[in-house]
Amino acid sequence: MKCICIGRNYGKHALELGNDLPNEPVVFLKPESALLPAGELIQLPAFSQDVHHEIEIVLKLARPARNVSREQALSLIQECTVGLDLTARDLQNELKRKGLPWEKAKAFDGSAVVGTFVSFSSDEGPLSLELKKNESTVQSGVSSDMIFSFAEIISHTSAFFSLEQGDLIFTGTPEGVGPIASGDQLQGYLNQRLLLDIAVS
Ligand code: ZN
Repeated sequence: MKCICIGRNYGKHALELGNDLPNEPVVFLKPESALLPAGELIQLPAFSQDVHHEIEIVLKLARPARNVSREQALSLIQECTVGLDLTARDLQNELKRKGLPWEKAKAFDGSAVVGTFVSFSSDEGPLSLELKKNESTVQSGVSSDMIFSFAEIISHTSAFFSLEQGDLIFTGTPEGVGPIASGDQLQGYLNQRLLLDIAVS
């Protein structure tokens, strides 16, 4: 499996990092080794002094597919949850300045954190997401504010990569990203439901 991640998918977050709004999805991957095993604490990598939380709605795919149309795309989603696209922001900024790929800042071990998956229904309407850090809300958003919808993301990325059963799609983060530190407690909510509750080692 792999994690397909979308950058700059909420306008206010793109702007808070000084980026332009994209006219097509900004896509990067995390490998299976980036997935934090269930029950483990977040470990801060030694190469960064500024690891940021990015709370995101995460979709799990039910079956393999390529070149999916927007009309078919939602039928591929098996389950959803909230997750953290942990980002070594200092290293990412350096890589961005040099015009280099972001993987070292984005795809390190344990950088993909996912909550408990729940069933997905495309009839439910927009999904809300929220992250609390040490019991204070630091990020919140709603999927209807995404620049590219779930269907557009799946259709677009499936033109470039084969989608496989169990692949995860991190659909982008709303504004309010910021640093995490040893001892922090992070709680992620989807539609006010607590699905992720994890500490930083
Ligand atoms: Zn992200």
